[in-house]
Amino acid sequence: MRALQLSADGAALADVDVPDPGPGEVLVKVAGAGLCHSDLHLMHVAAMVEQPFTLGHETGGWVEAVGPGAEAPPIGEAVLVHGAWGCGRCARCRAGEDNLCPRSGARIGSGLFRDGGLAEYLLVPAARHLLPIGDLDPRDAAPLDDAALTPYHAVKASLPLLVPGTTAVVIGVGGLGHVAVQLLRALTPARVVAVDVDEAKLHLAREHGADMAVAPADDAGARIADVAGELGPALVLDCVGSDDTLALAAAVVSNRSRVVVVGVAGGTLPFSFFTLPYECSIGTTFWGTIAELAEVVALARAGRITVELERIALDGALDAYARLEAGTFGSGRAVAVPHG
Ligand code: NAD
Ligand code: ZN
Ligand code: ZN
Repeated sequence: MRALQLSADGAALADVDVPDPGPGEVLVKVAGAGLCHSDLHLMHVAAMVEQPFTLGHETGGWVEAVGPGAEAPPIGEAVLVHGAWGCGRCARCRAGEDNLCPRSGARIGSGLFRDGGLAEYLLVPAARHLLPIGDLDPRDAAPLDDAALTPYHAVKASLPLLVPGTTAVVIGVGGLGHVAVQLLRALTPARVVAVDVDEAKLHLAREHGADMAVAPADDAGARIADVAGELGPALVLDCVGSDDTLALAAAVVSNRSRVVVVGVAGGTLPFSFFTLPYECSIGTTFWGTIAELAEVVALARAGRITVELERIALDGALDAYARLEAGTFGSGRAVAVPHG
């Protein structure tokens, strides 16, 4: 089968064997696999890849074959593959938090130093990672796995802060950010401000309910301060994570604001007691749990969130990554559909 693999030489399409599910494992026929900006970050550190693996950590598909003893949904059932494959035995995994398994190391799961969904078939190590999605099309549902789940996890953790009258700021309204705007609208009464360097992304954010959408160069800091008032934004979700965006976040927060860094652009922010307002917190967020993914699927099935996407052929994935890198991809998510 065809698979988009990452090796020390970079990303390339390869011909690999269709895996056979062993005890407890499940083979999924890939319907759709989303292209995440994180894959670009991985490509930049490809030199550290010792064992080539297939990229793709947001995957929808159909159960194709079930290994001995695996308690899987029936053959042919449409599923999402929750991509964080923890050890299954530690305290985090027992709590369903495979995304925070301390034993995973770099081998986090699907498409993250283990074979992922940018292939015709995906071998899933345990049936507990499969979530049936009912009547959703698994091609279009794929980005729920990360582009929706990651901001959902972050917004859900901040819900107590987002009371009426507060403001939430989303910096970077691409694949993740345009869903973050919708999640904030669906789950909270907060005013939603979107920030992006690309006017098309700002337009999409407005269409999806952002109360204000502004480019950093368009005096974003002052405009955010103006709408958020003296309390400042309750939440800044930074879906870029560069020096510039962290500086913008630090400039607009006030006492007890929360900054959640989603993007892994590698920016830094000096931190000491006096560099941020009192009780302002800043931290990272990482992916989400399969229980939260079920909640995301429920929102999508209810029509409360919609992922803007462009279906592409698996053979077109490298070209789509190049466009994502250049900022010319368009809006929303690219989803590779290996079987059309
Ligand atoms: P994307 O490329 O689809 O979107 C990024 C958006 O940020 C684009 O719309 C771009 O125009 C905008 N942008 C770039 N520089 C900007 C700036 N200086 N100011 C404002 N906007 C700017 O990427 P994505 O797939 O949505 O991923 C976003 C980030 O989140 C990436 O760094 C990715 O690696 C990371 N990510 C993190 C997690 C996690 O668990 N923490 C999960 C998925 C993705
Ligand atoms: Zn991702
Ligand atoms: Zn674990």
